[in-house]
Amino acid sequence: MELKSISVKNFRNIKDAAATGFKRANIVTGGNAQGKTNFLESIYYLSTLSSSRMKTLNDLVKTGETYFSLRCKVEKGGLSKTLEAFYGLEKETSVRINENPVSKKSEFIGELKTVKFSPEDIDLIKRSPVERRRNVNLLLSQISRPYLSDLSRYHQILSQKNKLLWQVSEQRADKKMLYVWNAQLVELGVKIVKARLEAIEALKERLKELQYKISGGKEEILLSYKCSFEVEGDLTKNFEEKIKALEEKEIIRKASLVGPHRDDIVFILNGKDAKYFSSEGQQRSIIINLKLAEYLLMKEKTGEEPVVLIDDIFFDLDENRRTELLEVFNGMAQIFIAGTEDKNLTKYFPEHTLINIAEGTVTVNEK
Ligand code: ATP
Ligand code: MG
Repeated sequence: MELKSISVKNFRNIKDAAATGFKRANIVTGGNAQGKTNFLESIYYLSTLSSSRMKTLNDLVKTGETYFSLRCKVEKGGLSKTLEAFYGLEKETSVRINENPVSKKSEFIGELKTVKFSPEDIDLIKRSPVERRRNVNLLLSQISRPYLSDLSRYHQILSQKNKLLWQVSEQRADKKMLYVWNAQLVELGVKIVKARLEAIEALKERLKELQYKISGGKEEILLSYKCSFEVEGDLTKNFEEKIKALEEKEIIRKASLVGPHRDDIVFILNGKDAKYFSSEGQQRSIIINLKLAEYLLMKEKTGEEPVVLIDDIFFDLDENRRTELLEVFNGMAQIFIAGTEDKNLTKYFPEHTLINIAEGTVTVNEK
C-alpha cells in the first residue's frame, strides 16, 4: 500500500498544505514545534479516524478555524482510492471514499493502513488499561471490519445498560430489564474477546521472537490478555455466569463490571510484570517490537503492507539497535519518518522524498 499524496487544511498548525511525490522513504523534517508530528498525525487520522494526542476532536482544528479537512490518495494493487475526512466543530467527522459519502466508519477505517511508532506509545506498558485496549482496538479495526462494528455496537449497548443500572438502583426500573441488554452484551462481547485473544496470541509469538533476538537471548517477553471473565472453555457461558454473579454489585455500583471494556493486556518480562520490573530502555524496546509485530500481523492478515509512521522514537537507542531498526524500516513498503534537521536522517535513506515543515507550511523536495 502506498500513500501518493495528501492535502491538509486547518489541521493542528497546518493551514493549507498539499504534498505529493512520495517515495518509499519519506523524511519529515524541520525544527522543533514546526508541525512534523502534526503532519504524521494527519496521515494517521485518515487511517484510523483517531488520535491519541487529543481530548476532543476540536483540538485537531487549527486554533481560530471552524473545521479541518483531510484528503489523500492511496494506491494498492494497482488501484487508486481517494479518502477524505471532514470535521466541523462539535459535529461528527464525515468521510468519503472516491467522493462517495460513507456512513459507517468501519467501512472507512483501514482503507489506508498504518502502523505508528511514536513517543506517546513508548510508555504504553505503564499507562492505564484504557490505552492498551485502545491500542489493540486500533489494530483490529484496521484488520477487520466486523470487529469495529461489533465494538461500536457493544459500547452503545453498554451505555444503555449503564443508564438502566442507575434506574434499577433507584428503583425506577425492574432489574429483569437488564437481561435484554446483557444478552446482547454477551453476544458481542464474546466476539470482541475472541478477536482480541487471537490477535494477542499472534502478536505474542512475534514479539517474543523479536525481543529474544534483540536482547541476545536474555529477555523473554510474554504478552497476555487479562480477561474479566474466564477464557477457558465456553466463553459465552463464562461471560453470562460472571454477569450473573456480579448482578447485585453492578446495581450498587451503577456500572458494568465485566466484559471487554474491563479487560487488559499485560507484558511479562522474564516472568515478572514489566509494568513494575523493566527499565525505561527495555520498555522502549518492547514497544518498538510490539509495533513491528503489529506491522507483521497486519501484513499477514490483510495481504497489504501498512504505511509506517515513525516519529522521532529511536534516537535514544544505542547504535546497534538503531542500525538494526533502520534496516528493518528500509525493508518496508513505505515509511514517513520525522526528526529535526540535526538528526540528519537523510544519510540513512539515500533515496527519499524530503518533506520540510516550517511553522505549519509544508514543502516537498524529491531527491
Ligand atoms: P518536535 O520536534 O518538538 O516534536 P513538531 O514539529 O513535531 O516538534 P508538532 O507537535 O507537530 O511539532 O506541533 C507544532 C505546533 O503545533 C505546536 O507548537 C503546537 O502548539 C501547535 N498546535 C497543536 N495543535 C494546534 C491547533 N489545534 N491549532 C494550532 N496550532 C496547534
Ligand atoms: Mg514531534
